[in-house]
Amino acid sequence: MAELEESPASAPARPMSGSRLRVATLPLVARIPPRVRSRLAVGLLALAALLFPLLHANDADIDSAANALAFAALALGLNIVVGFAGLLDLGYAAFFAIGAYAYGAAASFQLQPEWSSFWEPFHWLDLVARLPGPAGGDVVHFQVSFWLMLPISAALAALFGVLFGAPTLRLKGDYLAIVTLGFGEIVPIVARNMPAVTNGAMGLNGVAAPQLFGYSFGISATPYYYVGVGLVALLIVTSLRLKESRIGRAWMAIREDEIAAAAMGVNRVRYKLLAFAIGAAFAGATGTFYVAKLQTATPEMFMFPVSVMVLVMIVFGGIGSVWGVVVGALLLQMLQSWFLEDLSQWLHGLGRLIDVAWLRHVELASSIELIFGVILVVMMLYRRQGLIPATRPMPALSLDQQAAQIQRGGFATLPVISPQPSPETGSLLAISGLTVSFGGLVALREVGLVVPRHGVVAVIGPNGSGKSTLFNAVTGLVTPDRGSVVMAGREIVGLPPHRVLECGIARTFQNLRLFPNLTVLENVMIGMHARLASGAAGALLRLPRTRREEEEARERALAILALFGNRLVPRAEHLASSLSYANRRRTEIARALASNPTLLLLDEPTAGMNPAETLELAEQIKSLNNSGLTIVLIEHKLDVVVSLADQVVVLDHGEKIAEGRPETVRNDEEVIRAYLGRSAAFA
Ligand code: ADP
Ligand code: MG
Repeated sequence: MAELEESPASAPARPMSGSRLRVATLPLVARIPPRVRSRLAVGLLALAALLFPLLHANDADIDSAANALAFAALALGLNIVVGFAGLLDLGYAAFFAIGAYAYGAAASFQLQPEWSSFWEPFHWLDLVARLPGPAGGDVVHFQVSFWLMLPISAALAALFGVLFGAPTLRLKGDYLAIVTLGFGEIVPIVARNMPAVTNGAMGLNGVAAPQLFGYSFGISATPYYYVGVGLVALLIVTSLRLKESRIGRAWMAIREDEIAAAAMGVNRVRYKLLAFAIGAAFAGATGTFYVAKLQTATPEMFMFPVSVMVLVMIVFGGIGSVWGVVVGALLLQMLQSWFLEDLSQWLHGLGRLIDVAWLRHVELASSIELIFGVILVVMMLYRRQGLIPATRPMPALSLDQQAAQIQRGGFATLPVISPQPSPETGSLLAISGLTVSFGGLVALREVGLVVPRHGVVAVIGPNGSGKSTLFNAVTGLVTPDRGSVVMAGREIVGLPPHRVLECGIARTFQNLRLFPNLTVLENVMIGMHARLASGAAGALLRLPRTRREEEEARERALAILALFGNRLVPRAEHLASSLSYANRRRTEIARALASNPTLLLLDEPTAGMNPAETLELAEQIKSLNNSGLTIVLIEHKLDVVVSLADQVVVLDHGEKIAEGRPETVRNDEEVIRAYLGRSAAFA
């Protein structure tokens, strides 16, 4: 096997016959290109799913499989909320219930209002029928088609998702989990206490079976199984396409680091609501499917344990992994309804054989919670990322690749960065009277600062003097008490971070805020979020315009990585968390550049770099400035400040104590005192 891994560079020197021999011994599968291989796998899977009821004609098992498909659909929906957007939702079954009762009410004998002419148009559309009522007069019988109710339920659940989400999605982590837990509890209680619509705890009865071309599905499991396969296939495609789009990247950015996502132009509220709505829509459609299959609905079907079970399926399969959650859901549901039954039967047989009383009566399916718990603990201990992990770590670069000549990159010409060419001079950013306090601590006091177009301004000062707070106030991450920040003639105080980015201000963070579980390339592409336009429809339909935009974005991201020579390009597909410290700093700068800013705020960009790396980065910052970018830089290394900045601002205890050209500031007594203490200044 060692021969196979030999570097291609040495291959031509070997005799032809040898290499031909090696090719022949390659396993057949490995010779199929990965794209074809995955298509083949999907095709085989689809074929197996379609043939299953024909090859295994056991109605009970087909029924289990159909139920498992319903849970796979639920898991796919919750995966969008929890896996993609990172919003822990413990009340997901609420949306399942809404979709279920929507169909239950629209296609059963539950609601029977008196007939009036109001219903004529609906009658004409065949949505309702006119039946003789028990009390003499005619009544309305709802008979909305299952196929029509699928999208309607999805839309209705999405609407409720937005209604529930709008007030709560500002909460984070544990708080959000508790609120969702609350409405997960409320919905079944409402269902139980609205007997007029839901028939309360007794459950709806007489829910109509779906019909297709005049053929009623009735109670045989096979047609439901095929609807389930279709539903899951649709939701898989939807999930995969969303994940690979601008929207999926925005969700994952929020999941990885909300603050950084906002600073890179992602409208958090909108994308969280979108995730909630789409996740809810999946559950709504699934609810309709499930109720049509069972032909009844009781509040017990939508209680807390269902939400937890779907969550366990996701964790088991792999949070955020589309194929993982499908496999996780199918396996766990089949385990419960199928394998455990069989296993119990075997144990009974074994018990009779060896005459052990408790074995003869053991019922594994009734201990399903315990079994799920054990599975979860084992997964957490040995395979946290789930059966099919969402991200596959790339192998580290080989020693040869790492030792390759460092190329400094082409910062001299920046074809990919085109700050809006502006012949204007004067100030680009004007800050005045900026005051920020955290409780009793005044982090910035009446700070004023003017950044000329195409200039480089350095902000220096001891630790805790308010430098980072200045950046946070400008970029909308903290709200100042007073003061104004005018960017290119426009007041931006009070704008949310993503709007500040849209005004042309991009930043990096002192304590590195990359999206750790995304690749370097994805990190940079999220920087482009505000410059791209595709929405959900474009992503789902793979419109040519969307595909072109994605392709161009990818190329531009690679070109931006190439600005750093071969530092980042070979690592484009690596996770950001695997990078060295210096490369993380470079990736953050690349991500900021991707938004095509006019003003770049760099918070201690060379912190943690060695002298050679510092020099390299200083040169790169210089050439960014030469190509037209205006830069504000927080920096401790005075040689970097002196070589880059036209103007230096010194902060101390939140106040501006000096300002001017680097040489003059360097010799300012106040500055020396701030940095080195009183005695040094008078030595
Ligand atoms: P610098 O970047 O100059 O080292 P910072 O701007 O980070 O300083 O901090 C200035 C002061 O404000 C510090 O005393 C810091 O503890 C305080 N501070 C910064 N951010 C917060 C916050 N979110 N909440 C409370 N205090 C903060
Ligand atoms: Mg700081």
